[in-house]
Amino acid sequence: GVKASGRNGIAFFEPQMQLDVSRRLRVENDLRSALQQSAFRLHYQPQIDAHQQRILGAEALLRWEHPEKGLVSPGCFMSVLEESGMILEVGSWVLEEACRFMARLIKEQLIDVGEFSLSINISPRQFRQSDFVARVGAAMAAHQIPARCLQLEITEGMVIHDINDTVAKMHELRSMGLSFAIDDFGTGYSSLSYLKRLPVDQLKIDQSFVRDCTVDSHDAEIIRAIIAMGRSLNLKLVAEGVETADQLDFLRQQGCHAYQGFLFSAAVDDESLSALLRRSRESVTPPQ
Ligand code: C2E
Ligand code: MG
Ligand code: MG
Ligand code: MG
Repeated sequence: GVKASGRNGIAFFEPQMQLDVSRRLRVENDLRSALQQSAFRLHYQPQIDAHQQRILGAEALLRWEHPEKGLVSPGCFMSVLEESGMILEVGSWVLEEACRFMARLIKEQLIDVGEFSLSINISPRQFRQSDFVARVGAAMAAHQIPARCLQLEITEGMVIHDINDTVAKMHELRSMGLSFAIDDFGTGYSSLSYLKRLPVDQLKIDQSFVRDCTVDSHDAEIIRAIIAMGRSLNLKLVAEGVETADQLDFLRQQGCHAYQGFLFSAAVDDESLSALLRRSRESVTPPQ
């Protein structure tokens, strides 16, 4: 991370990108007009069963269609959305858009309810909204999405901030039928005692461990430990950032259940994901 001087001269920690104050304000303004002009998009990265080539779900990933730069990834602007509070509005849009897309997949019979789930990244600030649970409920109701079609991804950091409130909200959402994943698992500070208290279904092994797992014995050991621990807690393990067949072989041997990564597909737009699902349906349905 890099220390930069933020608003009021207070130093803030900026892990993603160093922005000086004027640049930051400009990005903030650009993001505001992006919101007004509906320039945000969702792309979807398939989640694949590690043992069969089956699509189990997809993760919705935010993109900004910039007039000059083209599609911009959230690494460049997520911290600005979070710190400006704009993430609340953008996060609501993400929820709404993801539910709309899910409704379409159901309507077009591209998936079977209960066999596919759409994962949505939830930012700390968004999750802390007092009416967050109601907002999720309203978005699902508006598009008539069964709750078991949705998974929420949260990070370890969010949990530590206010464990009681987090756990209470998670229980409420789970009783509605949603499931939870801990994203970027292994990079935060959560202890095993936190993990034990959390009503989660899935751990997503951070891509920083996956990257060198076939060449770096430390990364390999960390992955083994995460998988062993996750399995003993009955959690589903999903590896992120899988790019090579060797990485997938290693993960499979260790007992990882599913993966995401460029090896199968990067995040793609709604039409491309629909086409992928259609093709995978056709390949398992014998021709009439
Ligand atoms: P994440 O949730 O951990 O998402 C995984 C990131 O890894 C995505 O980056 C994805 O495009 C990238 N990725 C997937 N497969 C591979 C691979 O094989 N190799 C490599 N090198 N990278 C891969 P992306 O889309 O740039 O998103 C970055 C982060 O921004 C996400 O990390 C998530 O924390 C955040 N984010 C994305 N969309 C949203 C959103 O709608 N709301 C919130 N709150 N955060 C979001
Ligand atoms: Mg994620
Ligand atoms: Mg992640
Ligand atoms: Mg990440």
